[in-house]
Parts: sequence; C-alpha cells; structure tokens
Amino acid sequence: MSYSVSPIGFMRSCFKEKFAIPRQPHLAPAARGVLELVAPFDQAEALDGLEQVSHVWLLFLFHQTLEDTPRLKVRPPRLGGNKSQGVFATRATHRPNGIGQSVVKLERFEAGRLWLSGIDLLDGTPVLDIKPYVPYADRVESAINRMAEAAPVLIAVDWAPAALLQAQSQGQRLDEPLVALIEQCLAQDPRPAYQQPLPERRYGTRLWDVEVRWHYPEPRRICVLDVLPAGPEVA
Ligand code: SAM
Repeated sequence: MSYSVSPIGFMRSCFKEKFAIPRQPHLAPAARGVLELVAPFDQAEALDGLEQVSHVWLLFLFHQTLEDTPRLKVRPPRLGGNKSQGVFATRATHRPNGIGQSVVKLERFEAGRLWLSGIDLLDGTPVLDIKPYVPYADRVESAINRMAEAAPVLIAVDWAPAALLQAQSQGQRLDEPLVALIEQCLAQDPRPAYQQPLPERRYGTRLWDVEVRWHYPEPRRICVLDVLPAGPEVA
C-alpha cells in the first residue's frame, strides 16, 4: 500500500547548505526564513486563527537526503558519527519517508507567507504541513532522552576584526541579525566530530547570500575569518 503527499509550501531559509545548520530548532534563534505557501493554501483563510499562536510545528521532507533503500540503523552526528543506533531512536535525516519535524517561532504572517525564526531547515525544503504548538500537550516535563539530555555544549566564537565589520555591514544590507546568526551557528561546533580541527584547515558555509569562512585556532575555539558576498548558486 502506498500513499502520496504533496508540499503545502517551500521554505525560503537563511541556510543555503546543510553544513552548519543547527541539529535542532531554537539553537539559533537568529535563524530566520519565510515559508511560502502554494495554491490553494496561499489564501488568507488557511491561516485564519493563527494570530493566537506563538509557535508552530513544521512537518517537512529532508529533500536533500532522500534514499530508496531504508536504513534500520544510523550513525547520528551527535554521537560522533561512529556509534550506530536504531533509526527510530534518533532524529537522523536518513529515515523512512524522509520526514522532519521542527517547532519554530511564528514571528508574523500574511496570506501565503509565514515569517519564522529558530529554524533548522535548509533553503528550498518542501513543507508538508503546519500545526500549532499546543503547550499543555506538547511540553512533557517528565520526559527523558538519555541520548540527547541537553543542548550541545557551546564553543567560543571570535572574530577577525575585518570579518566582524563585514558581517555587520552585510547584516545591515540584508536587514538580518547576521552577526548573531553566525555566532549562534558556529558556537554549536558544526565540524564533523571525527575530524581534528587543525588550525590551517579552513571551513565555510553559505548563509543568506554571503559566504562565511572560519578556522579553529584551538580545538574548542572558532575564529571567523571573512564574511563576503557569495558567488552565484550552483543548482
Ligand atoms: N528538527 C528536525 C527533526 O528532528 O526532524 C531536523 C533534525 S535533523 C537532525 C537537523 C539537520 O537536518 C540539520 O542540521 C540540517 O543539516 C538537516 N536538514 C535540514 N533541512 C534539510 C533538508 N531539506 N534536506 C536534508 N537535510 C536537511
């Protein structure tokens, strides 16, 4: 038996690459984007009542990691990428049906568009559904997850003086909290856990339309090297 689903919209996100997206929502409150709805959901009626809600669940497709062969075990990056766990014990992107779920903050909305923050979705992500967060039911005070007991420990993020000026001016141009976004994402230490962060190794990712480059002068310290306009996107 098979069923089909189709997107109700697509995310326009600050994250243009998977690298350096936080592992869960809320870890970078400055991560923002606009969910653009498609017909017929782009009409005002579909969002009627949402002004009573501060946060929403997004159900979406991990469209960049869809696979034909289902995996029973995965190696979550959180466990260093070398320990495997049953797929249903993790929130890994490689999973049956490739469905992701995130609670995000609803900043504002109008017909056909929702402005969201604290997101962990890649640009272009197909969104399957939106549901209001229901605090009394969705917040479970007694819940335990021994594999993910607390948010990742943050590392220090410093700036080369020129990079900070670049980020401030690009942030002003974009009208986005770019300095905060870079600090919040890099403090999560996006490097693969198995990789030694040698000081000479350069890392980079694209946020909005800028390319951010950094290195690790010490294993638990990042220095942002430059924040420059990115070249044209490769499809
Ligand atoms: N909060 C969601 C969940 O629990 O289902 C996502 C968790 S998953 C561990 C988070 C990672 O998904 C991010 O770090 C990002 O690299 C990846 N991701 C986000 N959007 C994606 C997409 N459209 N396709 C593939 N990977 C994506």
